[in-house]
Amino acid sequence: MDDNEEEALLRSAAILTSGAILEARERVERELHQAKKLLEERTAELDHSVSMLRATIESTADGLLVTDENGRILCHNQLYLRMWPIPTELMETGSHQALIQHCGSLLKDPRQFELSVDEIYAEWPLESFDVLRFNDGRVFERYTKVKFVEGRNVGRVWSFRDITQRGQAEADKAQLAAIVESSYDAIIVKDLDGIITNWNAGAERIFGYRADEIIGSSISRLIPPDRVEEAARIMSFIKQGRLTEHFETVRLGKGGKAIDVSVTISPVKDSAGNIIAASKVARDITQRKESQERIRYLAHYDSLTGLPNRALLADRMRIAIGNAARYSYRLALLFVDLDRFKLVNDSLGHDVGDKLLKIVAERMQSVGRQTDTISRVGGDEFIVLLSQIANAEDAARIAEKLIAALSQPYTIEEHELVVTASVGISIYPDSGKDTGTLLRNADASMYSAKEAGRNRYHFYSEDLTSGASERLNLERDLRGAVEREEVFVVYQPQIELATGRVIGAEALMRWRNPKRGLVSPASFIPLAEDTGLILSLGEHILRESCLQARQWRDSGAKVIVAVNVSAVQFRQKNFTGVVLGVLADTGLPPKCLELEVTESVVMQGVESVVHKMRILDNHGIKVAIDDFGTGYSSLSYLRQFPVDRLKIDQSFIRDLPDNTDATAIVCAIVGMGRSLGLRVIAEGVETEAQANFLQSIGCEEGQGYLYAKPMEANDFKVWLRNWKLH
Ligand code: C2E
Ligand code: MG
Ligand code: MG
Repeated sequence: MDDNEEEALLRSAAILTSGAILEARERVERELHQAKKLLEERTAELDHSVSMLRATIESTADGLLVTDENGRILCHNQLYLRMWPIPTELMETGSHQALIQHCGSLLKDPRQFELSVDEIYAEWPLESFDVLRFNDGRVFERYTKVKFVEGRNVGRVWSFRDITQRGQAEADKAQLAAIVESSYDAIIVKDLDGIITNWNAGAERIFGYRADEIIGSSISRLIPPDRVEEAARIMSFIKQGRLTEHFETVRLGKGGKAIDVSVTISPVKDSAGNIIAASKVARDITQRKESQERIRYLAHYDSLTGLPNRALLADRMRIAIGNAARYSYRLALLFVDLDRFKLVNDSLGHDVGDKLLKIVAERMQSVGRQTDTISRVGGDEFIVLLSQIANAEDAARIAEKLIAALSQPYTIEEHELVVTASVGISIYPDSGKDTGTLLRNADASMYSAKEAGRNRYHFYSEDLTSGASERLNLERDLRGAVEREEVFVVYQPQIELATGRVIGAEALMRWRNPKRGLVSPASFIPLAEDTGLILSLGEHILRESCLQARQWRDSGAKVIVAVNVSAVQFRQKNFTGVVLGVLADTGLPPKCLELEVTESVVMQGVESVVHKMRILDNHGIKVAIDDFGTGYSSLSYLRQFPVDRLKIDQSFIRDLPDNTDATAIVCAIVGMGRSLGLRVIAEGVETEAQANFLQSIGCEEGQGYLYAKPMEANDFKVWLRNWKLH
């Protein structure tokens, strides 16, 4: 009720009679009172809702700001002030522009912020959203919406929410997911019923299933039947809350392939700490397992033939000896060594040698019994353990069978090879009671079989041990022989058959030992080669011979000196350097020197041999192939080497001229030499008949007792003078 209405009422009341006036007045006053009360109640109500509103905007998690269409601040909550730390004086000025500038200054990109605010006021969208990044690392979500009152647009509400924490959590989660996905290991999560819920790329790589093929199915698809119990036990540990389990096991990949894995499994808990799943990290260790297996295999087996090696043989011997001792029976050890295997290896290469050894291993296995151990203990050395025999004859029979089987021809690539074997036998308990003695004695008897002419077997006997110690003594005596001047050179002339002219002299090594007398090179050169002593002996002989040839030349005798060179010497890296050094020291012209090498040298390895021979050839030094016809060198092979001369081995000459095989071979060699443009000399010419035959087939040169035995230098000089007179 307003004042005018009140006055009108009073006026009409004065006109009325007093009773009526009074009554009316009272009624009016009552109405007035009621109206006032209503007004008070309305005001209180309004106050209440305003303070409710205030409390509400203060209690939200967002900073709130309300502005009118021009950006003037209508109201805000306290959080807004705190979030943007806005100084009170700035709020008091109420300047829109200053406020925007202040807020922009806190952001990484103030310009963008100001532009977007300007745009909002200019275009006045119903709502708009943005993310604001602060210089101090905080991140806000900004949301603004037009405010309508009774359908009328009265301004905008701006709300700001700090999502720094949420952004961090999301980044962490994304990072974690990326790590899981990029892990080389399999990372799998399964719920407590064993249903797979997570499957990363590593799991796909290891097990072969794609995530969409396997998520939702049971983990039991991966568990081999014999591991089911183990898996269940581990799962029960996890359900009990045991922290982490590590173990190595086998799992099945797609297609049922068994995969060795190392696994770490741990419980997954929800925020309340309840176990809700299990996470499993699995690493493929198949390769590691395989290499462990391989190492175990290599430790006990020979990789070329697959036969047990020395270590496994020794194990089996210990067991066999134990049994033989307990039950009083015999066992035998057969030491099998191929005869002249080195020649095959040197002439035809290691490839052929390896193939031969494999066939040898197969043949030996075909002879042996199930209970026997056939092992390979060295290059061409095999040991057969017969774990139970009745008597020595049993061992002899097996040895014969082995020798027969091994001496059958071998066809390897285009080569037809014949290789024989020598076997040494020791018997428990007769020739030894322990592994070491039995092995040693079988080895010694094998040597005795070789010395007796190879391709046979020998049983161990006491005096064999003395043979082994004899080799040791010989080696001891040979050491220092050069320094003690026990080693010297003898010379054997080489003759041009048609004219009888002396064209050269072969230098041959001699060793005269005070105890032993004159020792044949055939008996000490193999030992010198085995021990490396040949290097110093060979150089000594080369030097002596060159010096001698130089003196002969100086006194008018124009002979070429031919010096034997062992394969071991030729193989030396600096072999050509040594030869050139000796020539320089002695002053012998290189064209006066010929080196005699055997076929095994030629076949050492084409490239390095050709290289060395070219160096020699370039200096004018000649090379002859000694003992030609006894090795495996082929014609086509020979063409690659710069060789000057072939020396037909004396074993062929010996049987001339009556033996048809020998004549055929010698004719072939002479023909071949000619067609290759090589000179050919026959060694070991002892009779006129041989010399005549050689001459008749076009062999131009010879060397042998028919003309002269090897002689010491002084005798050679005398012989030479007489020969010329003659
Ligand atoms: P080789 O190089 O084939 O030497 C030929 C051998 O035949 C020599 O034996 C020689 O004395 C012998 N001989 C020569 N004419 C006749 C003959 O008419 N009838 C018979 N039955 N034999 C004859 P030697 O001197 O005992 O040498 C044996 C082997 O020792 C040589 O065979 C050679 O391979 C090696 N040798 C000798 N001296 C050296 C050397 O200084 N260094 C090297 N690495 N090996 C050498
Ligand atoms: Mg020779
Ligand atoms: Mg010879």
